[in-house]
Amino acid sequence: MEILMENGRRIRHFTAQASQIKDPEIARQAAFKAWRTIRQKQRDRAALGSKTILDFTGGSMQLPPGVAGGTYKLAAPIVKQSKLTDSSKGGVGKELSDGWVINFAIGCTFGCRFCYVDSIHKKFSFKRAGEIVYNDWGYYFSVAENLSELIEKTPWDKWKGQEIMLSSTHDAYLPHLNGWARKILDTALPHGVKFCIQTRSPLVEKDFDLIEQYRRQVRLQISIATMKDQLSRLIEPRVVPPRRRIEILRKAKIQGLRTGVIIAPVFPPISQRHDVIGDLEEIAEQLSDIRPDRIYGESLHVRGLNLAYIEKAIGQKLQMNGFDKEAEAMFNAALDSRGLRGRWWREY
Ligand code: SF4
Repeated sequence: MEILMENGRRIRHFTAQASQIKDPEIARQAAFKAWRTIRQKQRDRAALGSKTILDFTGGSMQLPPGVAGGTYKLAAPIVKQSKLTDSSKGGVGKELSDGWVINFAIGCTFGCRFCYVDSIHKKFSFKRAGEIVYNDWGYYFSVAENLSELIEKTPWDKWKGQEIMLSSTHDAYLPHLNGWARKILDTALPHGVKFCIQTRSPLVEKDFDLIEQYRRQVRLQISIATMKDQLSRLIEPRVVPPRRRIEILRKAKIQGLRTGVIIAPVFPPISQRHDVIGDLEEIAEQLSDIRPDRIYGESLHVRGLNLAYIEKAIGQKLQMNGFDKEAEAMFNAALDSRGLRGRWWREY
């Protein structure tokens, strides 16, 4: 018996096994189940064998293989308005800044499969970055070519006492942006500007000495989706493992820095993680001794192609309809179990 699989490819692999079974339908189902198990194992092995961005680049500014690069010109000032802020400041209710952001790249080579940013670039960034934005998310990256001039021309006093997010459409501590986040902080902090640094990169630790000098002006926030390494490699393929990110937070707290964490995205049970609440409790357990100043959470918000990217990565369909409320309850229960408090960002 042969089984016609996806792409019209004939898998003869299961022929011998399936032919032992007399009922053709049961044989077909048995062969399909075996094929699916093998595919899942291959996928999991590949995920575990994949490398983080630091492995690819050795910390150098080189792009990972297959990523299309480029540059673009950004108009001054480097600080732009952002909706990722409190509703009282005209935003969507996420307290990530006082309504300001600094983004200086198009694309993010961490390539998280759930990222919301790809849909923005595919709609709006063609003019600046060209057709590379039509590549898969994580496979295009363009940097503002006039960064020195922009940092110099920005009238930083205008944002004195205001919190700016660094960054919202890419990680400011990607290896190929080496040094730019520090230059921005170094220039802006003496003017009294505040920052919310949102990152998944341990390279931020290199700037702890600077942040320490302005500890009241900076909150350092990381993101965690799961404590399960295998799942993390599937959905955040080039990011350092979750425990390493928790380590960033722990080190920051020890140095007396203000810290925050976003637990996201939370999505329904899948074969790689049946016990969602157990996973959230494990995250809460990791945070229980660090006690970050702020804890936020949100479910997977479907934007552009992100659902398709994530379903491809995990090899399963995700049913997000109506899950936001359930996820909120799980988030609160998990934090509660470790005596922590957080804020859930509802789907809008
Ligand atoms: S690090 Fe942030 S911006 Fe970069 S891909 Fe992941 S979620 Fe998107």
